[in-house]
Amino acid sequence: MKILNKTLLSFRPLTCLSALVMLAAGTPSAGAQLKVVTTTPDLASITEKIGGEAVAVVSLARGTDNPHHIRPRPAFSRHLAEADVLVVVGLDLEHAWLPSLLANVRNNRIRPGRVGHFDASRGIDVIGVAAGPVDHAHGHAHTHGEGNHHYLLDPANALIVAENIANRLTRLDEDNAERFRENLARFRETLEEKMAEWEAALEPYRGTHVVTYHATYDYFARRYGFEIIDTLEPAPGIEPTPRHISRLIPRMREENVRMVWSEPVRPTRLLLRLAGDTDAAIVELAEFPGAVNGIDTYLDLIDHNVRRIVEAMER
Ligand SMILES: [Zn+2]
Repeated sequence: MKILNKTLLSFRPLTCLSALVMLAAGTPSAGAQLKVVTTTPDLASITEKIGGEAVAVVSLARGTDNPHHIRPRPAFSRHLAEADVLVVVGLDLEHAWLPSLLANVRNNRIRPGRVGHFDASRGIDVIGVAAGPVDHAHGHAHTHGEGNHHYLLDPANALIVAENIANRLTRLDEDNAERFRENLARFRETLEEKMAEWEAALEPYRGTHVVTYHATYDYFARRYGFEIIDTLEPAPGIEPTPRHISRLIPRMREENVRMVWSEPVRPTRLLLRLAGDTDAAIVELAEFPGAVNGIDTYLDLIDHNVRRIVEAMER
């Protein structure tokens, strides 16, 4: 539970001298670790892989949190005040909780527009960008109106994010450029090997019809050829209604939906009803490292989800 535990810890202390130099310069001194705060544990895992010993990473959200609704903990302000760089998922994932936190933190390094503020969604082929203006009042917390923000569940996107993080870390700490380049090459090699494995494991199930609780797995489904028929939520962020569910159940039967993909943070009552009323298997996947025991890294996360899906299809 590496990432999870780290959220509870403070950054490793710098020596007095380097802390003083940092204060004077406003940027990290040579030899000091870059302090990175990420909003979610998947970003923290990827950043640790790229930054290695040159970074100290803290994720604000835990793997067991619902990332759309984080209740700020007391340590958040301290982590943000000390950070050299803040890495966010973007696409409105954090809009319900991060802007108010940032407004109250005295740290200009990590404000939007500064080199210490990095939106990881840059360069992602975003699914479901709304045609009109984003309406936060509709869909009580968020609407995916800027597009679906769950892009990291497609491992090809994790590679884009890793490349961008390597670039940003290099801008902030040129002395470690070589280290970041090497770590990125190693991450890419491992990820590409795993992607070939995952692709082969899921290939037999291409075209399988699936329903998901929230629109969490749209990118994953696009990568591996699953067809998502509908979500339990009538719209992103809107709790399922009896009316929506009673329409969904006959459709699931007609369309031969084989699986319902959910996460541990979702209420189980409805899922049990769906399991009783349809032939679909309820498959509990994870969105983040730390969501369940044994998922410590980004690679563990995708491994876990692929294994769960294969088990459900082979039952
Ligand atoms: Zn969402």
